[in-house]
Amino acid sequence: MTKKCIYCNSEIHDDRALDVCNQCGVGVWGEKMFNAILKNMGEANEKGDLCNSNLSMSEPPSKFGNNRISFG
Ligand SMILES: [Zn+2]
Repeated sequence: MTKKCIYCNSEIHDDRALDVCNQCGVGVWGEKMFNAILKNMGEANEKGDLCNSNLSMSEPPSKFGNNRISFG
């Protein structure tokens, strides 16, 4: 299965976890950062950690701190 770069739609022939070609990746993040991202994502992919993101969408209800009534 051939992957395509999400930026320029060119084909990616290696099995990287990121659907971004080298040219666009370096253009977006810079060479060092892009290499680090590829490395990190590769490791996460091997461990199967990509699906275990702990994003909590729930926020505590807003408090009525501004509406305090002072007795007194
Ligand atoms: Zn590209």
